[in-house]
This record gives sequence, C-alpha cells and structure tokens, in this order.
Amino acid sequence: MTIDTQPIGKISTPYKEKFAIPRQPGLAKSAEGNITFFEGFNDPNYLRGIEQFSHLWLLFHFHQTADKGHSPLVRPPRLGGNQKLGVFATRSTFRPNGIGMSVVEFGAVSYQNNQLILTVKGMDLLDGTPIVDIKPYVPYADSIPQASGGIAQHSPELMTVTFTEQANSQLKQLEPRYPALGSLIREVLSQDPRPAYHKVTHPDKTYAMTLYDFNIQWQVINQQNVVLAIQII
Ligand code: SAM
Repeated sequence: MTIDTQPIGKISTPYKEKFAIPRQPGLAKSAEGNITFFEGFNDPNYLRGIEQFSHLWLLFHFHQTADKGHSPLVRPPRLGGNQKLGVFATRSTFRPNGIGMSVVEFGAVSYQNNQLILTVKGMDLLDGTPIVDIKPYVPYADSIPQASGGIAQHSPELMTVTFTEQANSQLKQLEPRYPALGSLIREVLSQDPRPAYHKVTHPDKTYAMTLYDFNIQWQVINQQNVVLAIQII
C-alpha cells in the first residue's frame, strides 16, 4: 500500500542550514517562521478559528534528509552519538516516511497579495520545509505532566553566550532591521550545537552558522560560547 501526501505549503524560517537548528521546538522562542499555502490550500477558510489556539502542531517532511533513507537503529545526539536506539524510540530525522512533528506558538494569520500566511514561533524547521498538515495543540489531551521522557526527560543544559565588542557593534547595526537577531543567536547558541565528540576533539574550533542572511561565527572560550562576528553573506 502507498499513501499519497501532498504538502499544503512550506515554511520560511531563519534557519538556512541544518547545523545549529535546535533539536526540538520551543528552545529558541525568538525564531519566527511564515507558512505560505500552495494552490488549492491558499484559502483563509482553512484557518478560520485557528487564532483561538495558542499553540499548533506542524506535521512536515524532513525534505533535506528524506533521500538518505533510514535504518532501524540510530545514534541520538543526547547519548553523545555512542549508543544506539530504535528509530521509533527517537525523534531522528532519518526515519521511514521522513515525517516530523513540532509544537509551535501561534503568531498571526494574514492575507496579502492573494497569499495566505500563517506566522508561527519557536519552530525547529529548516527554511523551505514542506508542511503536510497543521492541527491545534489541545492541552487536555496533548499535555501529560507526569509522562516519562526517557533520555529526553529534561531540556538540554544551557551554555552561557557572550558577544565580543566587534560582534556586539555588528549586532547593534543590524538590530533596527532584525530586532530579534540578538536573542535568536543567544537562544540557538545556548543549546551548544557542536557535535558531542567535538568537545574533546576540537576544543578550539571556530564554528559558523547561517541565520537569515548572516554568517555567525563563534568559539568556545572558558566553557562559554563567544560570538566573534556577524557577517552579511
Ligand atoms: N520536532 C521534530 C520531531 O520531533 O519530529 C523535529 C526533531 S529533529 C531532531 C530536529 C532537527 O531536524 C533540527 O535540529 C534540524 O537539524 C533537522 N531538520 C529540521 N528541518 C529539517 C528538514 N526540512 N529536513 C531535514 N532535517 C531537518
């Protein structure tokens, strides 16, 4: 049996590459994304009443890794990449059917130039990710406070993030146009995006990530993430 799934739209986000995207939604609350709807779904009726929900589930396609296939066992980053778990016991991107699910904060609905746009916040999605469905988050059914979360019981420990003088002045120049850039950089880097083994093998490496159209470089100094430069690409 095969099931045909047609994306209803795609999301634009500040995350232009996979590296450094938080591993779950809600970890970088300043990240804002816009879902634009494809023909056939570009109709405000599809979203009527959605504003009464503070949070939404996005179901989406891991389009950048979908062609890489999957195996029954994966190495979750939470376990330092050394131990294996069954793919269905993880939130790995490499899975049969490549379907992801993220709970995000509702932002706004707008309709401009015949284009329906749903704005959401806190997503962990790459720019251009195809969206296959949207559903309201229903607290009485979806929130289980006593649930046990196995290897992911608690959110990851946060690192302190600081800016060099140079990075700070670059940020100041950009903030009028990108008011959330500073907090987004802080939230993303506080998650320590380095591969776990780099902590030992590459202690002095300078890392770079792309947010919006900016190349952001940082280094770990005295166990803090220090932002060195923010350059326009
Ligand atoms: N919250 C979702 C879930 O549980 O299904 C996604 C979790 S997955 C571990 C999150 C990671 O997926 C991000 O850190 C990013 O590296 C990756 N990712 C996000 N969008 C993607 C896409 N469109 N294709 C491939 N990988 C993607």
